[in-house]
Amino acid sequence: MSLAPPPDAGEISAAADRLETAPAAEIVRWALERFPRGRVAVVTGLQAAGVAVIDMAAAVDHAYIEELRRERGWRIEVVVPDPDPIAEFVAEYGLDPFYGSVQRRLDCCHLRKVAPLDEVLTGLDCWLVGLRRNQTAGRARLRPVAVDVAHGGITKVSPVAGWDADAARTHLAARGIPLHPLYGVGYTSIGCAPCTRAVDPGEDERAGRWWWEQGIDKECGIHGRPVPITAAGAD
Ligand code: SF4
Repeated sequence: MSLAPPPDAGEISAAADRLETAPAAEIVRWALERFPRGRVAVVTGLQAAGVAVIDMAAAVDHAYIEELRRERGWRIEVVVPDPDPIAEFVAEYGLDPFYGSVQRRLDCCHLRKVAPLDEVLTGLDCWLVGLRRNQTAGRARLRPVAVDVAHGGITKVSPVAGWDADAARTHLAARGIPLHPLYGVGYTSIGCAPCTRAVDPGEDERAGRWWWEQGIDKECGIHGRPVPITAAGAD
């Protein structure tokens, strides 16, 4: 049996329109049925919403369950960066240059996060993520299915785009899946240790990410460069 070719922009747009208000599990099912095994993956930094997407993917496609490991059995590939450019970066700028400027912070994020993920995505036709529209101003127009121009035109699926933070936690609680332990000590977003802190009551969900930076979206570059909040939040 021949495999269906990757979708073109027209098919992606039609799918996005049809799935705009669909339940998250239906969006996950569309992605797993549309793309062949081995060409589609869930990518997450272990935020609650991303873990919920993994859970829905496992429920939709029982063949994934064969790849389970230990109790839940999810097959998780840990992506690590190339140590050589990081060693050069540290030698030139020191261990924590990210506190000094946004550009240096983005340089670090590029080496440790963006570049390793780019390499993984070159082998895929589709990736699923736990992005939500209400996380940042720049994510406000997030579609459930989109052409990922930054990664060679593969398909990017955001099944929980319409969820809020509570919906992700409710899903995990109902499924008996533990949250990342940092959620239990005041964190509302999970990131690298030097760049993430717990938030105070009433603070924005992503206020603990790069908390010393003001006036730009809290983005590492994986999902686009951070933009000034005033420009992105115009609508
Ligand atoms: S979050 Fe901080 S430590 Fe992690 S890659 Fe970005 S700048 Fe570097």
